[in-house]
Amino acid sequence: MQIPFLSFSPQHHPIREEVLAAIARVYDSQWYVLGQAVTDFEAAYAAFNQVEHCVGVANGLDALHLSLIALNIGPGDEVIVPSNTYIATWLAVSFVGATPVPVEPSATTYNLDPALIEAAITPRTKAIMPVHLYGQACEMTAIMAVARRHNLVVVEDNAQAQGATADGGLTGSFGNANGTSFYPGKNLGALGDGGAITTNDAEIAQRLRSLRNYGSQKKYYNEVIGYNSRLDEMQAAVLSVKLPYLPDWTRQRQQVAARYNDLLAGIEGLQLPVVAAGSTHVYHLYVVRTNQRDALQQHLAAQGIGTLIHYPVPPHMQQAYAHLQLPAGRFPIAEELAATSLSLPMWPGMTEEHVAAVADAVRSFFN
Ligand SMILES: *Cc1c(COP(=O)(O)O)cnc(C)c1O
Repeated sequence: MQIPFLSFSPQHHPIREEVLAAIARVYDSQWYVLGQAVTDFEAAYAAFNQVEHCVGVANGLDALHLSLIALNIGPGDEVIVPSNTYIATWLAVSFVGATPVPVEPSATTYNLDPALIEAAITPRTKAIMPVHLYGQACEMTAIMAVARRHNLVVVEDNAQAQGATADGGLTGSFGNANGTSFYPGKNLGALGDGGAITTNDAEIAQRLRSLRNYGSQKKYYNEVIGYNSRLDEMQAAVLSVKLPYLPDWTRQRQQVAARYNDLLAGIEGLQLPVVAAGSTHVYHLYVVRTNQRDALQQHLAAQGIGTLIHYPVPPHMQQAYAHLQLPAGRFPIAEELAATSLSLPMWPGMTEEHVAAVADAVRSFFN
């Protein structure tokens, strides 16, 4: 049985006509940038995320970048980031001229360890960027307490965790401004690039609406040096169709994960995902760990099972960040995760047979 790492078919096939009709409405409206579809989706996503404001932008990286600008983070500032995140989190910090300061994650949940944040805070620290990695909500109550104690702003990177909760609050609703991504493979994915910022701060939202549109709120009058980073009208229309299905797709992901947890329990040398007390996990990715990662990946590939590595090189060891002079060995947890993590197939609509076949193949490797 061929089992791809990700298949869109079970999500996209049943809503094909609905999505094509939404695209046709934009086509016929003759209004292609910042029109009704973006306004409607922003309202729907703000409601979903239980925040006052949603500002649609071109992608998740821009959502993080513009959030930092709107919060006045700039040159000379330090921003606390996880040592084991996707590089976009760090790039957003670099774009505003600030310095990413890595903090190690918990070795079990892979999310920023709140207990380690304080040691990394200096007089230059201005912000914390928690990343809800793989779909699990960070321990936001503890992180927000650290931020309050040190007068720091918080920008959640919610690209992987739409709909996850920490102590009952939704990811993307805790920070001052929070970025998410609608890259096709994300839990809520567009048919191309897209992103958004969620916030309860009306002034920040206003600033972001200007920043994404040339620094202009009134056409041809520019109050700040802005960007062209608008959520595309067609993508917004597609996202509005998909959003009502997200809770069901999330449940399906959680069912697949629960089945994996059952079928893979007790294998010596295989670490399964661990969810922190108070957090929920929406399983953007189902990541296991083993010292024999590369051999396991090859074993699964030989049986037609697709896997990916999230992520093979931690940001501090990327050539792009050589100038920070953070040597190998400096962030051992991030480095170990990069060496041992493997993401198994995970998508809504994966059947019981798919999950069992993957689990059998994993078991046969360790036997
Ligand atoms: C996908 C992702 C981003 C960036 O989103 P894009 O829409 O691809 O720019 C940022 N952070 C994390 C953790 C991501 O997974």
